[in-house]
Amino acid sequence: MAPLASNMGFISSKLFRRLFTCHGYKLFTIHRKVKTMKKFTIIYFAITSLLLVAPNLVMMYYPLPEIGLPINPEDLDYTENRYGIWPYGVRGAENTQHPEGHPGIDFSFSFPAPIYAVCNITVTEIYVNDHQQNVVFAQSSSNPLVYFEFAMGDLVEGTTVGSSFQSGESLGNASVIGPAEDNFYMIHFGVKRQVNMIITQIECPTLYFNDDSLAILGESIWDEGSIMNKSTYVERNEFPYLNNPTGLDFDEHYVWPSYISPIVLIAAIGVIYVLLYLKLRKS
Ligand SMILES: [Zn+2]
Repeated sequence: MAPLASNMGFISSKLFRRLFTCHGYKLFTIHRKVKTMKKFTIIYFAITSLLLVAPNLVMMYYPLPEIGLPINPEDLDYTENRYGIWPYGVRGAENTQHPEGHPGIDFSFSFPAPIYAVCNITVTEIYVNDHQQNVVFAQSSSNPLVYFEFAMGDLVEGTTVGSSFQSGESLGNASVIGPAEDNFYMIHFGVKRQVNMIITQIECPTLYFNDDSLAILGESIWDEGSIMNKSTYVERNEFPYLNNPTGLDFDEHYVWPSYISPIVLIAAIGVIYVLLYLKLRKS
């Protein structure tokens, strides 16, 4: 917020007066309408506050859901050209894949393995992307602000937006990747949480997995017998954790462009409103 504060001096300069009050510029003769400005300002802040705070109020009543695994661990494939698991926050070799950090967890298979609902969910969105057959977003039944992403293959017949699945129920199969002679199968699993009424933020699924699931996954490649321990992804020495805190403040870095900008924008407009109001009141 420091840049905004230092801009105040600029706004209160002669230029401001020239822009807003000089030479009878009719558009800005609203100094006679201070009361209207005041009303606008109050309404503006009321709406903005609601937009920013409402989901946090909802969260007080709906704690984060605890989830199971979207896969059967025994289905995973760790052989060459597979990886078993590609964890959260990994940056791909030479920054060609997810230079910002992997926004979810991938699992790999040698056959179209079944994918499971991680808790009770309702499908809110289905679309096709460039390397998975179906990307499904589903809302948690126990917390309306939390959405799970399943980038996968064939869906159970008849699946549409609005379809509900119980925890552990099959959603369909992993998606096929690569040329026909060296097919492998995978799912990208991610979590998004609505943090205000405009923006949803990507979060690490480890914040949601129940204790049993976390024990099976393992916290790092050094957890004996865990999926992480058996994994073979090429970046495993550089990014050894299930939830990699890559770079400086990785999470903040990732969410900054989408999460902070609208808030700074709203705040900046609000500050300009107040300054304008104060100026008009004085003149
Ligand atoms: Zn992925």
